[in-house]
Amino acid sequence: MDNLDLSNIDGLRILKVNDNVLHVHQIKPPYYFSCCDGLILLPRNGGNQKTVILDLNIEPHLINQINDLYGPISDYVCTHGHMDHIAHVHQWETLGTKIHAPIPEHACLLDLHNFHKGFQFNEALDFSMIQKFAELNGYNNCKEVHPFNPGKSFFFDDFEIKTIPFLGHSKAHVGFFLQQDKLIHISCLGFDQIKPGVDGFGPWYGFNECSINQYLKDIDLAQSLFLKQANILTSSHSYIIENPDITPFLYMREKIEKNQKIIDQAILSLKPLKKSEISLEDFLNMDLFFPKKKMDKFRYEIYNYWESGIISKHIERSKFLK
Ligand SMILES: [Zn+2]
Repeated sequence: MDNLDLSNIDGLRILKVNDNVLHVHQIKPPYYFSCCDGLILLPRNGGNQKTVILDLNIEPHLINQINDLYGPISDYVCTHGHMDHIAHVHQWETLGTKIHAPIPEHACLLDLHNFHKGFQFNEALDFSMIQKFAELNGYNNCKEVHPFNPGKSFFFDDFEIKTIPFLGHSKAHVGFFLQQDKLIHISCLGFDQIKPGVDGFGPWYGFNECSINQYLKDIDLAQSLFLKQANILTSSHSYIIENPDITPFLYMREKIEKNQKIIDQAILSLKPLKKSEISLEDFLNMDLFFPKKKMDKFRYEIYNYWESGIISKHIERSKFLK
């Protein structure tokens, strides 16, 4: 499918998904975790009377331009509390848009301390580190956020947006199903190919609360929803997919499988040691997922924390340490 390119704002790619829905991507995010792609739902007869935005976290000057072109914007729905989904949401709020975010991560939008504690960074990193991380990504807090439970349906005028809990990625993480548009948005589930064939990291489960088992169920659920009820699939960091292309689901499962192989192999190479002698440090020192040895101290600390989470989850699943 060729989506009409409407990109009339420098720095953004704006693709027409259908007459009512646009998919927006910031071309050069200023820092690693500062932006994510999202959707603009234009006003429609017999539907939403004003523009609604779904999880479009882009830099403030671009938000202003979107508002000039497509506003006024009544509501904004955030999908979860990770930095690349919360950093700039405050800018939508200053334009008079009502901000909705899923429980419990709505709290991350209100106060950075909630982000620090909520994702248990506080067990490994000082708040000052998170402050620096937030600053680099342009984070500012919102003043008021309307919390919702994952799974809730929103009705904006007569238009329904169903949120779908995909909680393997985070405690609050939701996707969207737009029945009228036959569109499923899987948010940050882990399909992160910016173009066909271009590799990304895949599903992300670096925090304690993430679960690979839940991830696999979420991927199955997303696949069956897509194939049975939708024509189009969009997500936070990738290109647009049309039914019956199941690339995203194959890609995500393969990535998890590949990560398991990396850990299984590392275990075998550490095997000469007794099981009780193998520590998380041994795995971390091997730079299995991230080139930490090449990183400055700041990035090292953060990636080391995330990699610990990823490694621990695969150690638990490994048949070689049973
Ligand atoms: Zn995320």
